[in-house]
Parts: sequence; structure tokens; C-alpha cells
Amino acid sequence: MNRNEQLFNRAKAIIPGGVNSPVRAFGSVGGIPRFIKKAQGAYVWDENDTRYIDYVGSWGPAIVGHAHPEVVEAVREAALGGLSFGAPSAAETVIAEEIAKLVPSVERVRLVSSGTEATMSAIRLARGYTGRDKIVKFEGCYHGHSDSLLVKAGSGLLTFGNPSSAGVPADFTRHTIVLPYNDTTALAQCFAEFGHEIACVILEPIAGNMNLIKPSAEFVQQLRSLTSEAGAVLIYDEVMTGFRVALGGAQSVHGITPDLTTMGKVIGGGMPLAAFGGKKEIMECISPLGSVYQAGTLSGNPVAVAAGLKTLEIIQRPGFYEQLTAACRQLTDGLTSAAQQAGVTFCADHIGGMFGLYFAEHIPQSYADMTASNIEGFKTFFHGMLDRGVAFGPSAYEASFVSAAHTPELIGETVETAKAVFQQMAG
Ligand SMILES: *Cc1c(COP(=O)(O)O)cnc(C)c1O
Repeated sequence: MNRNEQLFNRAKAIIPGGVNSPVRAFGSVGGIPRFIKKAQGAYVWDENDTRYIDYVGSWGPAIVGHAHPEVVEAVREAALGGLSFGAPSAAETVIAEEIAKLVPSVERVRLVSSGTEATMSAIRLARGYTGRDKIVKFEGCYHGHSDSLLVKAGSGLLTFGNPSSAGVPADFTRHTIVLPYNDTTALAQCFAEFGHEIACVILEPIAGNMNLIKPSAEFVQQLRSLTSEAGAVLIYDEVMTGFRVALGGAQSVHGITPDLTTMGKVIGGGMPLAAFGGKKEIMECISPLGSVYQAGTLSGNPVAVAAGLKTLEIIQRPGFYEQLTAACRQLTDGLTSAAQQAGVTFCADHIGGMFGLYFAEHIPQSYADMTASNIEGFKTFFHGMLDRGVAFGPSAYEASFVSAAHTPELIGETVETAKAVFQQMAG
């Protein structure tokens, strides 16, 4: 038995499913999860000392490459000065100023420790600010695991959602409306019916949790105008897209100014750091200034802030996003032509340092499109690549990521590997 399997069995005896976050268990692709021992640059190593080119990047944070020496040094230095204070520290203000500089819609910002906390707090804030209960989310968008966001569509388009997890009372999701992504008709109908009862609309402005799915320009413009007219708060959940698709996030790509933005993943550079921020008028409803309660023992943790600040510094160096974009383009073009040569139905899309691979004729526009793609094809591809030393996320419904450490040579190597896998799939 290999070491990954031994460790998985041992973990399963004490940790439910052997993992601390479900996707890691390989449930949707089958097989044994790789237990990671070390990560450096574009590579991860498992407990069998097998090396993989990594396109997961810890699900996004590792944008400058794993264990970047400058980030590690910043963390070491911060740690020597104490791991947590439970009191304000200067670096928290510096990173808050930095976030506001890079994302101009953010006039005030508060730091938290996870994306889940950021979105949960932003929703509470939107409700507190508007005095309304109803919220709108989109099918296939993931916003962390708080109760009112673990919701699937109800029986009719405008009926309220049902819990998508056991343990969430139906009463808690009664106020959540779930609409199809990119569906301007459904959105218009929803606002015509409920506009003045809606506290907020939350979306992944470029979706990355149903694989990569981009919104149409019409969809995001309509979102902005309908929420403004109705006095509802528009929340861009940029936990994944922030500092990932562009330095200014998806909102800079769309030219849209949301009311609130949530961030995570890249801003912590691999440490537990996340944030929510936006319009001053809304943010000042948060305690201690306002009546919306929110707090955190480890919020603004000095070690996490140090990792985040150094990461934000590195991503602002000249050519950083051009290089990420070029890497994604080289990879998606290479994979697409390799699949075509082998006769495998496949397409791909990318933006900034994020890409999507689809075993489908056309790039999906919604969760329903994604579900209709060849999920079995993805599984075969995934395992074929993993067996040959290339790691993608263990689910067809996840986007993939490159880092600054993914050189043209490594991308070329990945494409060569994929040629063999596609040929096997075709044969
Ligand atoms: C990852 C993610 C979250 C949740 O963040 P955690 O840090 O895992 O709690 C929320 N929203 C989006 C868009 C995400 O990608």
C-alpha cells in the first residue's frame, strides 16, 4: 500500500472522510487523495515523494508560486514578533489601505479569516443597512458555507430556495432566492416582483466554483442597474477572482462598481486572511460604529497580514498579470489543439491567472450547461494527468489556476503530457 493510501486510512479513522474540506477526499473523481508533503514554486510533492505540476494552487492563493522566498521571509519575521495580539496593529491599516488603493470601490474594509466569514458578514451588513431580509444568489455560485447561502433553487423560478445541506433550517433559506447565472430575463422578473424587498444580490462576478464561467456584459450591467434602482446592495464575491483575474479584480474587468466586495484566497497569500469592504456609508453600519455585529479573535492576524502584504507587493510588479495571462493562453490553446488532434470533445477558457477546461462542445454559460458536459471525460483526463505528474482540482466543477512560477517550459510539458492522455481517451 502506498503512503498516500496509508495516511488516508489513518485520517479516515479520526477525521470525517479523512479530510478537513470535502473536495479534497476525491469523492467526485474516485481514487486516493494525494497527501501533500511539500509545495514549492509550481510544484507539489506527495508523501510518496512523487512530484506534480500543480494547477490547484491551494484553490487560488498560491498566485506568486508556493513558498515564495520573499513571502516566507515576511511570515518568519512577523512570527518572530508574536503570532497574535487581539489588539490593533499598524500592518492591518497598511494592508487595508493597499486593498482600497487596488480596488477603488472599497472605501472601508474589514479583515476576517476566511471567505465564508467575509460573505456571511457582507450579507448581514447588507440586511442591516437596508432593513430588508431577502437575498438573491445564483445557481452554481459558491459563497462559503454559512446557512443562508447553502441553498439550491426552489420548485419555481421565483420561489424561495431549499437548503442544499442537512442541518440548515428551511426557515433560514426562506429569504434566499436562487436564479440561473447569466439569465437576464429571470433577473428582471425577480426584481419586478420583489425589488424593494431585496437586501442584496451576491454573485461570483466571474464564476469559479462551477468551473470557470464568465458572465455576459449585459448580465452584469443589468445587475448593477436593477440593484441601484431597487436600493439593493450589489455584492461582488471576489474571494476567488480578487487579485486573480486582474489586479483590480473582476470589477475592474467589467467596469462595474459594486457596493460591497468580499475577498480572500490571494489576499492572504496562503495564510488565513479574508476581507469585506465597500461603500463608506454601508461599512459604517458595522460595529463598533453601527449596529451590525461582527468580530473575530484572529481577525487581522499579524502573520497572515504579513503574508498578504508581501503577496500584494509582488503581484504589482511590472508584467505580473501579462505573464499569468500568457501562461493560461499557452496552456488552454495547447490543450485545445491537442484534444482536437485526438478527436476528443473539449474546449477551454481563461482570464488572468484562472482557467477552465470543459469536456463539451461549447464554453458553458450556466450551471445547467456545466452539468450537461461530459463529467466522465473529465474524470478520465484528471486521473490520466495525475498519473503522469500533473495535478488539477479533483472535480469537473472547479476552475484551475496558474502562478508566476508556471514557466512556458512547464506549460509546454503539461501540453505534451495531455497529448498522451487525450490520445488514450480517444483510442
Ligand atoms: C473559496 C470561496 C469562498 C469561501 O472561502 P473560504 O476561505 O473557503 O471560506 C467564498 N466565495 C468564493 C467565490 C470562493 O471561491
